[in-house]
Amino acid sequence: MACREATVLIEKKQERKLDVYEKLALRFHLVVCNGCRRYNEQSVFLNELIRKSSLMDITDFSKMRLADDAKIRIQQLVENKLNNM
Ligand SMILES: [Zn+2]
Repeated sequence: MACREATVLIEKKQERKLDVYEKLALRFHLVVCNGCRRYNEQSVFLNELIRKSSLMDITDFSKMRLADDAKIRIQQLVENKLNNM
């Protein structure tokens, strides 16, 4: 599997469960690829942050703008990362 495919799966598994083949392929790639392992950790961490900040939006309207800005910044970070691979 190419790194680009692996990062697509890493993003995908934050949204929904991967099927058995995808899960195995990704796991195998993460064993052999240091870069994607780090990307995976960061992606899980960032998604956790996004989830937490969108939970805050429900109770505090003033934080909504901040959360949106953060999402855009994170998205740009991820895109830059993909382009540099
Ligand atoms: Zn890789």
